[in-house]
Amino acid sequence: MAEKVRNISLLSQILIAFVIAILAGIIFGPSIEIVQPLGDLFLRLIQFIIVPLIVSSLITGVASTGSMETLGRIGGKTFLYYVSTTFVAVSIGLLAAFLFSPGTGVDISTSREVPEATETDGVVSVLLNIIPTNPMESLSSANILQIIFFSIFIGIGITMVGQKAEPVQRFFEGFAEIMYKITWIIMKLIPIGIFGLLAPIIGEYGLSVLMPLIKLISVVAIACIIHALVTYSIAVKTFAKMNPLQFFKGIAPASLVAFSTQSSSGTLPVTIKCSEDNLGVSKKISSFILPLGATINMDGTSLYLSIATLFTAQAYGVELTFTQIMIVVLIGTLGSIGAAGVPGAGLVMLTLVLTTLNLPLEAIALIAGVDRFMDMFRTAVNITGDASGTAVINATEQKRDQQIESDSAAG
Ligand code: ASP
Repeated sequence: MAEKVRNISLLSQILIAFVIAILAGIIFGPSIEIVQPLGDLFLRLIQFIIVPLIVSSLITGVASTGSMETLGRIGGKTFLYYVSTTFVAVSIGLLAAFLFSPGTGVDISTSREVPEATETDGVVSVLLNIIPTNPMESLSSANILQIIFFSIFIGIGITMVGQKAEPVQRFFEGFAEIMYKITWIIMKLIPIGIFGLLAPIIGEYGLSVLMPLIKLISVVAIACIIHALVTYSIAVKTFAKMNPLQFFKGIAPASLVAFSTQSSSGTLPVTIKCSEDNLGVSKKISSFILPLGATINMDGTSLYLSIATLFTAQAYGVELTFTQIMIVVLIGTLGSIGAAGVPGAGLVMLTLVLTTLNLPLEAIALIAGVDRFMDMFRTAVNITGDASGTAVINATEQKRDQQIESDSAAG
């Protein structure tokens, strides 16, 4: 039996777990909560490797670029790719919200408690906060943006120092390899983890909770799927000359883990593993681009922010002006960059957007009840977007290397 299970590919195992989880949730209802510890076990296992993984892979990734010029080039391309796809995502979200008007006719009288609108700091202090005053503290509190900041700097330092810093570089390379190995072990547990995470959610919510906002959830889900299928297919086909089917199949295990955990950061180890093993992305590229992407590149979240904002305006009968819609685009993009790769971060960002536009925050109470479901779709898109970025940038770098080789052979 165990042998038979081992012979089924990981992707099939995950899909089977997925279906069983949904069925079990529907059949057993809230009592399926009993399997939650399996989900928690998996969640804790992937959480425990995030910080050491990000530190070692980012330092290694940045240092292995070898020169400030390469680093600048790859960094620039990454930024350009991430910002443009996020912009496309926001636009698709806006279009979907206008076309389907998910908020029109929604009963906004809600008895649910309004979650406290989190105090959002000014932009300047948010930016300043990225610089850690004490890196050890950032590590222990798992402040991912700060960790990214100092890891990139250590990588830059290694690149600039050169030979003398080689032992440090080799240490982090070895350390990153160890983290990849641990990831490999944990990946075997994905099907069990997915079952333990998903079944209780389905069991707890059931269909009745979903019904009132089913239109909003569907619009977010459809827009997410369209963005993933269209934008990433075009991107990987055009820039990476990769068959989109091969891309989606390769990244599917990570997308499904993201769907189940609703955490881009938590999924990072799996995203890295899938990108390298299934999409053929080099370690140099994936270890640099993916940790960054998991934190700052969130196409699904930006798309969700634009739909949820328009939903709120529609539900309250507020007509948004063109300028206000442009603000949605801007804050949708910035909000997705600022959102952490953890469950529910998008909902917190929604308070920021609604506050900026002076829209009623009560809508948050309504949306919060079903946010989990939209989080599943947006997180899956978030990490699929990160992976498409690595595939694209990896291909452009490979092409460049080949060009240089053939030029030098000809010369
Ligand atoms: N859960 C999302 C992520 O981790 C963020 C969000 O809530 O939109 O990517």
